[in-house]
Amino acid sequence: METKIISVKEKSICGKAVEEAGRIIQAGGLVAFPTETVYGLGGDALNGESSGRIYRAKGRPSDNPLIVHICRMEDLFPIVAQVPDTARKLADAFWPGPLTMILPKSDMVPRETTGGLDTVAVRMPMHPVALALIDAAGGYVAAPSANRSGRPSPTLPKYVAEDLDGRIDMILDGGEIEIGLESTIVDLTEEVPMILRPGYITKEMLESVLGEVRVDRTVLDGNSGQPPKAPGMKYRHYAPKGELTIIDGRQEQVVEEINRRAREMQEKGERVGVIGTAETVGRYMADSVKSAGSRDDGKTVAKSLYRILREFDEEGMTVIYSENFGTAGEEGIGQAVRNRLLKAAGHHIDYL
Ligand code: AMP
Ligand code: MG
Repeated sequence: METKIISVKEKSICGKAVEEAGRIIQAGGLVAFPTETVYGLGGDALNGESSGRIYRAKGRPSDNPLIVHICRMEDLFPIVAQVPDTARKLADAFWPGPLTMILPKSDMVPRETTGGLDTVAVRMPMHPVALALIDAAGGYVAAPSANRSGRPSPTLPKYVAEDLDGRIDMILDGGEIEIGLESTIVDLTEEVPMILRPGYITKEMLESVLGEVRVDRTVLDGNSGQPPKAPGMKYRHYAPKGELTIIDGRQEQVVEEINRRAREMQEKGERVGVIGTAETVGRYMADSVKSAGSRDDGKTVAKSLYRILREFDEEGMTVIYSENFGTAGEEGIGQAVRNRLLKAAGHHIDYL
């Protein structure tokens, strides 16, 4: 299959491209498109065969459900069995935006889309191209991140092409993504709403609207022994090709230890990459040293993390060391960054 790549950065071509992409999805095809979080791989959410194609293109296990993207609030009602008050409040506060809600599904949503579950994940994204595409595609677009399963989510169109060229019908190129981490997922079928995947919309933001909110234990502690409630969170995710280890401790010690290990690995013939911060990046010695941003600004770290992991792949790094970002009880976006970094490292973290 030839994958057509069309820029949607200019308004004059965007309308036509989105119309064509919408027709492709309506006919059962697959289109990658920009959202504010990461690039998504879209198919018709109400067509079980389209969902099957998404799983195959990504190499994704079919028990890992897809998020259904909508572009109008009224489109929520037909696909869910009920809309609790909590969902209305969250939609008012955060839609369109990087928040996914888990709700009981209606019969309209095929089981292929929900990985066999009775619940459905729904989000209304904010990116104008995403909203226009969902509308053009008939209102319901199933869209996981547009990467091969297990790879870092793409924040640039070239990474979508790297993973999916020849496997999907079209890529809408909207340039670099704004947020860089996947949406927050909140389960509203629980008595107390529960965060299954942290993201840009933080626990504190949800609590300001809902009152008490819990966090799935597995999000913070990969060794809790429990299965996560979001099936996708059990897989090793977001992983670079190089062996990634997180080193946690006091800044001075971390820099020293990473430099020591980097030297040792280089002597063994490994190519070593280091992820530091603006504050420390000048003090590392390795084959490739990158700053994830400022330690005080979780948003810049969120935006650069997946890009850095992909760049290390391009540069052929075989061993990667990263400083840790945030701490276990961390609030705000730091919790999401920490969660993704831990998963990328397969929970390989050394405390000094
Ligand atoms: P991605 O599409 O790559 O952003 O991943 C979607 C995430 O949402 C995965 O971790 C899924 O397991 C999770 N998810 C989707 N639908 C549900 C659902 N009905 N219940 C729990 N988690 C879900
Ligand atoms: Mg994904």
